[in-house]
Amino acid sequence: MEGSRDEKYPEWAPPEAGAEYASRVVAGTYNRDAGVRALKSPLAQRKGPSVDSLVEGIAAGNRTLLAQAITLVESNAAKHSIIAQELLQRILPKTGKALRIGVTGVPGAGKSTLIEALGMKLLADGYKVAVLAIDPSSQVTGGSILGDKTRMEKLARDPRAFIRPSPSSGTLGGVARKTRETMLLCEAFGYDVILLETVGVGQSEVTVRSMTDFFLLITIAGAGDELQGIKKGVIELADMILVNKADGDNLLRARIAKADYNRVLGFLNPATEGWQTKARLVSAMTGEGISEFWEKIENFREVTESNGVFEKRRQNQNLEWFYAMLEEGIQRKFYEQASVRAMISDVEAQVRSGALPVTAAAQMVLEK
Ligand code: GDP
Repeated sequence: MEGSRDEKYPEWAPPEAGAEYASRVVAGTYNRDAGVRALKSPLAQRKGPSVDSLVEGIAAGNRTLLAQAITLVESNAAKHSIIAQELLQRILPKTGKALRIGVTGVPGAGKSTLIEALGMKLLADGYKVAVLAIDPSSQVTGGSILGDKTRMEKLARDPRAFIRPSPSSGTLGGVARKTRETMLLCEAFGYDVILLETVGVGQSEVTVRSMTDFFLLITIAGAGDELQGIKKGVIELADMILVNKADGDNLLRARIAKADYNRVLGFLNPATEGWQTKARLVSAMTGEGISEFWEKIENFREVTESNGVFEKRRQNQNLEWFYAMLEEGIQRKFYEQASVRAMISDVEAQVRSGALPVTAAAQMVLEK
């Protein structure tokens, strides 16, 4: 019996699961007009909203429907993917107007305190703010550092702001896809500043950079970790470095750190053509420096929009995303093939035992 993996296996089944796999998902019939069913709870069999009502709800500013639309794009089930794509197609004309800002920094640097302070300022200035997170660690631990509800309390309570923790399952590529699509839904809803937060570990900064217009690195002085704690590669991605906690006894050390960063930045290629990355002081706690750095970000937008770099980056990001999705799809389709599944464990054993050279083994499977 052939069929898509989603219809036969639960989402958590291993990719190599065969017919012996006891637990199956019974494929339901999906009627697009009847709507989205049972998105989260397998027990909930009641009907969800239709694509039409999601589109209308998002246009009308209904947060419940926005959240349901996000749950839909976060679903891994093939049948949800079809309606999610239709939904995204429908809302596409309303997307793209927000300023997308990536925020990274090691745990404890003050990301959430700063995002809350900046977010509250932006709300007061009349912006609508959405905060999304990409937290790669949540895939491993099942818990999310960035999903902690007690963070950004004021912002979370304000109806003009929207906070969504990291989607918690799948590869970084999968999480990135979900976050991009969530970002589009938020833009269609009318959020005009999207803050996309990630912890400073591994590949996630590159991923966040690849979907944002402006990339902000938050660091702290002291503990002698000015430059050691943060990889040079991350500094190279940044459009601005904020040395946070520049207050009280820490002010002097923060000034020294700022000068150190500026010296290093002088040797690096700018992350954005035509824009000089600079380090600045800020205190998320006292609010000192927040209006000033926001002004700089607005200035960045003016400069890059007028020299065409802003639009060019977005076009390139879309192309990169397209190819990443294509590669992911090709890979998935390849491994789903019955002939590949049949031979792969045998070839794997031969590679493990050294009976077959790796290149020859790969060639063999590819030719199949
Ligand atoms: P995150 O892990 O990067 O999100 O960091 P948090 O925002 O949770 O902040 C970590 C700790 O640093 C908390 O105890 C904050 O109160 C503190 N903190 C954040 N910003 C500042 C600041 O500007 N000055 C001082 N003194 N402490 C701060």
